[in-house]
Amino acid sequence: MRVFRGTPVSPGYGQGRAVPYRRREHLFSAASSAGAEDSTTEVRRAEAARTAARRELEALARSLKESYGLDEAHIFHAQFLILEDDLFTGLIHAAVTKGRSAEAAVVEAVRQIEEMFREHVDPYLRERAVDVRDVGARVLGHLVDKCSHPFARLPDAAVIVADQLFPSDTIFLKRGRVRGIVTAQGSDNSHAAILARALGIPAVTEVDGILDGCAPGDAIAVDGETGEVILHIEGTAQADYLQHARRYRTALEEARQIAGHSVRTRDGVAISLLANVDREEDIEEAAKLQVAGIGLFRTEFLFLAEGGEVSGARQAEVYRRAAQWMRGRPVTIRILDLAPDKALLLSEDVPQMRSAIRDCGVHYALAHPEILRPQLRAILRAAPEGDLRILLPGVTGALEIDAVRAFLQKVADELGREVRIPVGAMIETPAALFMLDAIAERADFLSLGTNDLLCHLFGSERQRGKETAYEPSFLRAIHLTVRAAQAKGKPLSICGELAGDPAFTALLIGLGIRELSMSPERLPEVRYNVSRISADEATALARGVLNVQTASDVERLLSENVDPWHKLLGDSDGTG
Ligand code: PEP
Ligand code: MG
Repeated sequence: MRVFRGTPVSPGYGQGRAVPYRRREHLFSAASSAGAEDSTTEVRRAEAARTAARRELEALARSLKESYGLDEAHIFHAQFLILEDDLFTGLIHAAVTKGRSAEAAVVEAVRQIEEMFREHVDPYLRERAVDVRDVGARVLGHLVDKCSHPFARLPDAAVIVADQLFPSDTIFLKRGRVRGIVTAQGSDNSHAAILARALGIPAVTEVDGILDGCAPGDAIAVDGETGEVILHIEGTAQADYLQHARRYRTALEEARQIAGHSVRTRDGVAISLLANVDREEDIEEAAKLQVAGIGLFRTEFLFLAEGGEVSGARQAEVYRRAAQWMRGRPVTIRILDLAPDKALLLSEDVPQMRSAIRDCGVHYALAHPEILRPQLRAILRAAPEGDLRILLPGVTGALEIDAVRAFLQKVADELGREVRIPVGAMIETPAALFMLDAIAERADFLSLGTNDLLCHLFGSERQRGKETAYEPSFLRAIHLTVRAAQAKGKPLSICGELAGDPAFTALLIGLGIRELSMSPERLPEVRYNVSRISADEATALARGVLNVQTASDVERLLSENVDPWHKLLGDSDGTG
């Protein structure tokens, strides 16, 4: 038996048989066994894949340049050269002419060129062997039959054990089929984690060395509460694990009984629980969960799912359907929010980089009217179907809100429609904190983006943001935002991942938050917690927290006070 520890990113307990998955290796091994059609067809397929790979690389380079000001020629120089090289195309054509499939021909060409680079005397060129493999994987990604993806035919009770998961892998994950997900790399805010939560699959990430000791079919247990992953589980560990899992299921059942669009604290304060959604299909799921509305629709995933471009008509259809599913409850559509982590979704190979805040979010949208105009048109078109709202990401001051409002008016005039749609601002940049009065005055509502706010306040990477969530400066930032919203009489919600973290429910309510928007899977736990909290006691706790000066004091106060309200499986029932 081996016990690994990682970061829990999706709650629950799951036990089953390991399905190890190394992404790049999968592409190469699936390609080697692909069957060939006639050589003309295979040449055409190989060429089409090469062209698609080049376009992908160009788009990536462009977005890096636009978002980060990086010189595309520099970053992808070697990869462009390899992709365009006569030797690469020549080797592919030669293999295809000998009856190999396009996939097998690419693998063969990569192997030969890689070998040449590896043996080179120049150390720089020796290192370019990595680029050759990268280019190969990129081309193969457009060739390898999606049906050959190992997740397309998963065994029963599968626990996926992967180096890292990308959106192209996660599209195969289905509710109920996968018992757990364990990855060596990832983060609480990665798309794979968000999706795992949406699908209710327990998941643990940052589990070092998990792939090395794991073979297909190995018994494995995932604890999405503590982050423990047990390979070849047996004996008392197995018995303990099953007991925790049973208690979790019972508590979850109990939590699900507390249905309803809003929930009240023990002392009668109404708290609205809303859903964050990324994909169109999540909206229908959220509607079934009786949420008070969609507090955040991250539309960038709509764009990413369709290769970067979505027509206005398609957008209008999605927004219209969202409004219909929510039957008059609010649907908060965030305009395209391009930021480093989202650019990562376009490709697995973009290094994690930070870009200037003013190149992202609403600034990016305003600088790209060719994207913003069709999106606003689509929202305006769909607006009569329900209560649609527009949310602006990455706001840093008052001017951006004015600029979007003016643009919206222009688009509405073109369409011959009235603008009756509320426009809200995300508070997720330090600059916004200094302009809260002006932003709250201009916006119709505010939404705290705690994921980005934590990163920007502490200059940390997105996946490490939560480490600083107990810092008094951050909690004071929430407090200031609550006060600004109250002063101007504007509704305020939290839509960052913290809203769905049951350990923070009491504190957030104590700080004055009355709307929480989260991954739908978090709803039962948070709903349950809210129903057990007294808002009065929570306010007293928050008052104390706002008076201390260090994160450890905050944690101490919380651990002394929130025990009965903590997580669903808090220490109070002895299972935590
Ligand atoms: C946030 O930053 O908290 C947020 C909700 O937006 P995203 O996670 O999409 O950046
Ligand atoms: Mg954000």
